Amino acid sequence: MSIMATELERLDAVAERLGLDPPIHQHLRHPKRSLIVSVPIRTDSDELEIFTGYRVQHSMTLGPSKGGIRYHPDVDLDEVTALAMLMTWKCALMSLPYGGAKGGVRCDPLKLSSRELERLTRRYASEIFLCIGPDRDIPAPDMGTNEQIMAWIMDTYSMQRGATVPGVVTSKPVLLGGSLGRVEATGRGVAYTTAEAMAHLGLPLSGARVVVQGFGNVGSVAADLLSGMGCRVVAVSDVHGGITNPEGLDIRALQALVRAGKAVREYPEGEVITNEELLELSCEILVPAALGGQLTAGNARAVQARLIVEGANGPTTGEADRLLRDRGIFIVPDILANAGGVIVSYFEWVQDLQFFFWKEDEVNSRLRDILMGAFRRTLGLARQEGVDLRTAALMEAVSRVARATKLRGIYP
Ligand code: NAD
Repeated sequence: MSIMATELERLDAVAERLGLDPPIHQHLRHPKRSLIVSVPIRTDSDELEIFTGYRVQHSMTLGPSKGGIRYHPDVDLDEVTALAMLMTWKCALMSLPYGGAKGGVRCDPLKLSSRELERLTRRYASEIFLCIGPDRDIPAPDMGTNEQIMAWIMDTYSMQRGATVPGVVTSKPVLLGGSLGRVEATGRGVAYTTAEAMAHLGLPLSGARVVVQGFGNVGSVAADLLSGMGCRVVAVSDVHGGITNPEGLDIRALQALVRAGKAVREYPEGEVITNEELLELSCEILVPAALGGQLTAGNARAVQARLIVEGANGPTTGEADRLLRDRGIFIVPDILANAGGVIVSYFEWVQDLQFFFWKEDEVNSRLRDILMGAFRRTLGLARQEGVDLRTAALMEAVSRVARATKLRGIYP
């Protein structure tokens, strides 16, 4: 089942539980706008290569749409649409004044030089220029993209507008109007929600064994903060495979290794494992922080964690969700666990609109307030309705967007 089919199935189940009006339910099933663009670039060897890019705006009911841009060989319209819809729910769950969007280019960024990446980014940004902007749709990084790519998008947009427009993207370098704390925000939110979920389960954080799939922006920060909270990170991985050591890994040393352009499996003090083996390791906390669709009917029975915190978007299929729930494994769903990024992106946008910047501890404490507030509300609703946390989070988010849709009415 595709990620979009999984997310629609989840929406349908929640719509039924909420007793949503069928027309509103249908409205929410469809993205507002989907743009497919071709992105031709000249390679360094002066050949023409053509990539395909997407930008899907699922909803703008609660405000301008917000969502990352992914550079990955598997990017397609189905995936981008599902991720855009998840952004609508995530922003609504966090009570942010945003709808949801997502974008991507089907490419392997590891195979492109820096100059090729810049040309690809600038051409993609030009192609989606008409539908982005601080008052309509605000991109941010996702897998395969970073601060530098956001800087190129901001510059391309600004050149076409004839004025510097920092609020068009978030997670920019701080020098260009980025927010302090944004780079770490998603991983920080994963760490906060992990601590809250462990407390809810009555399990000690100190000494808890953590396994992290994906050692990029989200996974490496979450691993670092969790190890700072007293957890023992026993395995991490990247696209090339993983490394495990039951005694615990030195996360700072691994971060330095990755910064030097190496793969995590080159870390000397551990045993090399595959990404598949990593998901089945004995641990208390499993943090999938790479691609979607990693926990499936095929491996859910072998997962040994007590708690799964979804750093990635859509890492658990519907069938895996049911199997894991039946086995008593507690899941903090993506739209709650990884919302730290969009919360601080919201702060960045507010700062850019006002040209007035906050201190980092102010950013982090406001992040904590919003995220922990949402966590507790969701947990309360889950208890009240006798449902799991994912269903409760979706119920809260979908009903908020549905109520706003009803209030605004259907144009014309
Ligand atoms: P990133 O590009 O910084 O890092 C991705 C990591 O995953 C890298 O270590 C990469 O090697 C690894 N990876 C790629 N393909 C893999 C595979 N097939 N198997 C195992 N590992 C693989 O990306 P990121 O920003 O950390 O995003 C990771 C996930 O978190 C994505 O699902 C993204 O949608 C989600 N997310 C990111 C943010 C954010 O602010 N960056 C916010 C919310 C959710």
